[in-house]
Amino acid sequence: MEKTDASVLKEKILSKAREIGFDLCGITLPKPVEHYAEFLEWIRQGKGGEMEYMKANPERRKNPAKLYTEVQSIISCIVNYYQGKLPEPEDGEGKISRYALGKDYHKVVKKMLIKLLKFIKSIEPSADGRAYVDTGAIMEKEIAAKAGLGWIGKNSLIVSSGLGSYIFIGEILLNMYIPPDKPITERCKDCRLCIDACPTGALEDERRLDASKCIAYFTIEYGGEIPKHFKKLFGNWIYGCDICQDVCPYNRNPPITKIPAFKEKLHLRNISLKKILSMNEQEFNQYFQGTPIKRTGLQRLKRNARNP
Ligand code: SF4
Ligand code: SF4
Repeated sequence: MEKTDASVLKEKILSKAREIGFDLCGITLPKPVEHYAEFLEWIRQGKGGEMEYMKANPERRKNPAKLYTEVQSIISCIVNYYQGKLPEPEDGEGKISRYALGKDYHKVVKKMLIKLLKFIKSIEPSADGRAYVDTGAIMEKEIAAKAGLGWIGKNSLIVSSGLGSYIFIGEILLNMYIPPDKPITERCKDCRLCIDACPTGALEDERRLDASKCIAYFTIEYGGEIPKHFKKLFGNWIYGCDICQDVCPYNRNPPITKIPAFKEKLHLRNISLKKILSMNEQEFNQYFQGTPIKRTGLQRLKRNARNP
């Protein structure tokens, strides 16, 4: 494809992505991930906790071309899920992370990506690709940063100066060359509000998270009994934790999500702990139908809701 044609195609893709509902979309080339050795060292030190899937497929994780051999460019897209100000829990209530107060983002964002891929195929019949949302051995944050959508903040998340960090990331590995975007400069500068606010000391150093100390990891991914001394630090959080995002200056007044599915379950924000502890499986399935909480299951949610 001629370079001019590729630029025209890029414009069409970006415009369609906005129409579908993505807030930002950028392109990068499928080069091996830089700083991969640091990731391996993070795993080696046990900082991924029990997230065994992170150890799988290291070659694919490092190099997107091993995941999809025909890939020539990666379209990275982000969509904001910020729902506006939310009420704080009352006594006897537990708090659920913002990202889980809607339909499961894996499904919602995947559908949006598939729509975008179908559109690309409709204008370029030889186009093909693979869509990923927080699945597959792929370093999403690094890719989004390389595509210029934001930078990896000291809270270890992608931060966009216009959108903050309450965002979901998805990407399409495409078998066509699209001119890439440039990364932007890191803008945390001297700020360290997220590091200082983390109650468990999980944010140890610039851009590094020790997942094995993170409330989100313990309440969602971890299967065992949470050590008492550690659980005491969790405050009201019973599913995920937004502290390091809540304090971020870039999250002070982000735009409210345009996607209704991400604010469909706001009533789940603060839930009676007694209610959770007395729930049976059927009630749990009905109550959390369609949300990411359903993946975690009732037994873990009860564990999280019990006093330390
Ligand atoms: S999610 Fe909570 S526990 Fe995890 S790093 Fe952020 S503030 Fe710390
Ligand atoms: S709180 Fe400060 S240091 Fe942390 S991600 Fe936001 S801007 Fe960066």
